[in-house]
Amino acid sequence: MKKIKILFAMTLLLNCAPVVRANDGLDRYGGRYLFYHLYQPISENAGFTVLEEDMKGGADGAPAYRWGRPEFLAIVKLIAAEVNTTQGKAQHQMPIFDLSAENGDTPIDWEDKEYPTGRHPGNSHDGGNNFDLGYYMTSLKGPHIDPDYAVCDDHYSKTEQDEEGKPKDLYQCFGPVIRLDVERQAYFFLRLFQWHADRFDHLLLEAIGVDHYVKKAVLDRISSWREQGTYNVTPEIIAEMEKIMTCDRWGGWARFHHHHTHVRFREIDEGGPFRNELYKLFDQERALEWQLWHDKFVDKTVFIKADLLSYKLGRAIDVTILKPKNLLVESCEYKLGSEDWVTAEEPENNFRYVFDLPYKPQPRDKKLRIQAKIQLSEGTSINLSQVVHLPALSPVLRVGVYKSAICGNYKKEVIEGKELWQLTVSFPPVYNIYITKVAYQIFFMDDTIEPVVVNGKGDQFEATFDNDKKKGILSIEATVYVSKRIRHTIPIYVTL
Ligand SMILES: [Zn+2]
Repeated sequence: MKKIKILFAMTLLLNCAPVVRANDGLDRYGGRYLFYHLYQPISENAGFTVLEEDMKGGADGAPAYRWGRPEFLAIVKLIAAEVNTTQGKAQHQMPIFDLSAENGDTPIDWEDKEYPTGRHPGNSHDGGNNFDLGYYMTSLKGPHIDPDYAVCDDHYSKTEQDEEGKPKDLYQCFGPVIRLDVERQAYFFLRLFQWHADRFDHLLLEAIGVDHYVKKAVLDRISSWREQGTYNVTPEIIAEMEKIMTCDRWGGWARFHHHHTHVRFREIDEGGPFRNELYKLFDQERALEWQLWHDKFVDKTVFIKADLLSYKLGRAIDVTILKPKNLLVESCEYKLGSEDWVTAEEPENNFRYVFDLPYKPQPRDKKLRIQAKIQLSEGTSINLSQVVHLPALSPVLRVGVYKSAICGNYKKEVIEGKELWQLTVSFPPVYNIYITKVAYQIFFMDDTIEPVVVNGKGDQFEATFDNDKKKGILSIEATVYVSKRIRHTIPIYVTL
């Protein structure tokens, strides 16, 4: 019975407390995928926005954490634009929050912190296929902060206060979603599920974390569309939404989704059965990009499309030109910053040229100018210029903590009949940036004696245990805390 209780408590700890888990810097996805950076769109007609910086209340804006895989970026952009076209411009566009860090890891905050802290539960934002999408909203005026990206006002404790003396944020709606733009949000989800079913044979979406009150409001609206016969809503789509949209407490989804939904896409094999669908998707995205530039600069028809890519933390800028099909181009040259002019290598592929930017840590955001000289077949030429923003690239993205490289050590001395145990852990020095605490646990032969826990101090997290009564020791283990929260347990001493 006791064992069951312990297991139950552990499950609670692992699943129910997303912020108390953090990442360990492991680059699980770097080298497997090419990540694309998500920029602020050029026109409001894009139907989405990104925030300039992290906001109060937990809405993410830091550009360094907006790296995703291109197929999922294209899907989100295309559906956001469709919401804008069919439903009209929203009062407050969908803000896109964190995706992945540039190495494909779950983002970690380093600045202004005593210790590294995961911005999301450990591993939950890995791989460039996890998107935090803010909600479409009718107002950003919250009861305590402004702008407030939470869709409900009732997400505060009635009894507890935070350090500033304000009601404590509980990060979950306990009342109606009074500031959610239900119509647009429901339409966005509906189209996402229709694409999931129709274009990707039900293999696009893995899980969608959402606040309970949002899920209810959205499904109520979609059910009413079904009754009215609008937007081709089928009972199957509703059943699938019920299943994939989760607010499950045990899975860690109940909290923190009062201001965004977490969309987890499934892997799409680019050489698999959806190859043509992916080509179609990227063509649609190019057409959309052209339209958005044209919406902004109505008297122009040719534009530069510059995508910032990253692979194993080495960056590249992929440049092509966007133009109407009937406008024939003879040749195209580009210039990046102060480098020499280069001729587009692939005229047949939208005059593509890829500028390599070899790996170099970059402490802060930076801008680079791209220029293009385009010679049209009819004789005239066009000069274009555009600024590309390069987000900061932290050198810590190179570091990952591997349990196998951490070693537990002991030294036993007997002084005047007393046993003195010196305990340490050793690991590569660079791990010190992640390892925040080491606790040693001593278990005794006589299992009626409670285990003793001692905390380590200093660089090697040294600790001593004075076994003065010479109690038989069965084993000693070190629990190594990474980013304060992830735990690795290392055996140090075990009786044979
Ligand atoms: Zn998330």
